[in-house]
Amino acid sequence: LQNNIEKLETYLARFRETGVLNQIGGKACPAASGATFETTSPVDDSLICKVARGDAADIDAAARAAKEAFPAWRDLAATERKKILHKIADGIVARAEEIAFCECWDTGQALRFMSKAALRGAENFRFFADKAPGARDGQALPSPTLMNVTTRLPIGPVGVITPWNTPFMLSTWKIAPALAAGCTVVHKPAEFSPVTARILMEIAEEAGLPKGVWNLVNGLGEEAGKALTEHPDIKAIAFVGESRTGSMIMRQGAETLKRVHFELGGKNPVIVFDDADLDRALDAAIFMIYSLNGERCTSSSRLLVQDTIAEEFEARLIDRVNNIKVGHPLDPKTEIGPLIHKTHFDKVTGYFEIARQDGATIAAGGSRVGTEGCFVRPTLFTGANNAMKIAQEEIFGPVLTSIRFGSEEEALRIANDIPYGLTGYVWTNDLTRALRFTNALEAGMIWVNSENVRHLPTPFGGVKASGIGRDGGDWSFEFYMEQKHIGFAT
Ligand code: NAD
Repeated sequence: LQNNIEKLETYLARFRETGVLNQIGGKACPAASGATFETTSPVDDSLICKVARGDAADIDAAARAAKEAFPAWRDLAATERKKILHKIADGIVARAEEIAFCECWDTGQALRFMSKAALRGAENFRFFADKAPGARDGQALPSPTLMNVTTRLPIGPVGVITPWNTPFMLSTWKIAPALAAGCTVVHKPAEFSPVTARILMEIAEEAGLPKGVWNLVNGLGEEAGKALTEHPDIKAIAFVGESRTGSMIMRQGAETLKRVHFELGGKNPVIVFDDADLDRALDAAIFMIYSLNGERCTSSSRLLVQDTIAEEFEARLIDRVNNIKVGHPLDPKTEIGPLIHKTHFDKVTGYFEIARQDGATIAAGGSRVGTEGCFVRPTLFTGANNAMKIAQEEIFGPVLTSIRFGSEEEALRIANDIPYGLTGYVWTNDLTRALRFTNALEAGMIWVNSENVRHLPTPFGGVKASGIGRDGGDWSFEFYMEQKHIGFAT
């Protein structure tokens, strides 16, 4: 751990000196107003560095740079775009340790997960690099009098707004397909975790990305974020964050008719039937809520467990949860680090009292760890019902709410009785039931007898309050590109 902390200091030294700057038209710059805000580490609340606090003026400059760079980037041979995106992936791999260390310190996420997240970022670039040459492919749809052909063109400069949970990986997930499609980008990262977005941007320009193709404006959501969603030169907004922010963005973008793509919140059920492989179900249920600090949109934060096995399953769960290692994010043994920020820590720990008031049992955890930083003990609520706030609201921490059910019908009713619909996890060895249940479960993504395993060609996204649109495979291009039809008289 001591080694890692010393290494971290070498990576952070330059940020401590210059702060995190914006990048507009290929130039590193402070906010036009000179304003800054501070990013702190949730490990000990210490200052990491100052960050440029961009506002509408900086967004305007970045949008103009993205507009100017657009025609040349759009018209560049797709094979050239492919080469540059692969070089970005190479750059990420080369700096994976720096990215992981900075992300751990900025977000509180444990190193064991963040070192993988950095490499997943590289994979996102490689995947979309390889898809770039086929992005414009269309169809021939001949009619008796016309040869109709379709093609796709990039929509133009786009805005990308990302949240603070796994910020590096999520930024690559949104920006790689935009660049592969031929769009230019203005990125507004989350104010709680700005450091790795800056590193990513530098890697991209070092890889030969032309100036202005990717611009970075740091700032607050209600200032820089809002201005980005309202800017007339920005044709679409790819947003990842809370459902209520999605609603705001839709309103803000209405005047300029923005196309929007939303990856929003979740309160995802993991449903365990008594005929399931309970050892595997237990491992997966634990992994899906207690990894990444539970600050994960796809986390299985509601456990629906059949009453015939509930007592034993919950007892085993309690035992395992009490043994999860909470600690310094740069300690390779740590499973749960501190939550992102004091504000979020207050929100998550506030649910301990809500659970008590609602009459649930705190079967494990339910308290902070130590007196410094944003550390909480992994927590399990039992004796809950689906009407309780702890069952309905996205807590976004290492907190699991267990609800018992009797029949399959009851499990389905509880699973669907929620505003969200991002993911679902079903554990049963009855194939017919799995088919029946997944067909009726209201979620954009469902895994049967598996935790969440991402496969990049598959569609990623949610229904209900969990999102609009899909990412992954060709779905990403549908968002970043416009279909065009041309009919030739024959
Ligand atoms: P958030 O909505 O508070 O912030 C996300 C981003 O939006 C930040 O960059 C913020 O500055 C910006 N923003 C805030 N107000 C804005 C406004 N009025 N206009 C424009 N931009 C604005 O979300 P968060 O707390 O950073 O992230 C956690 C949330 O993200 C959780 O709800 C989680 O489920 C969700 N999330 C969803 C997915 C998914 O794929 N569905 C993935 C990761 C996170």
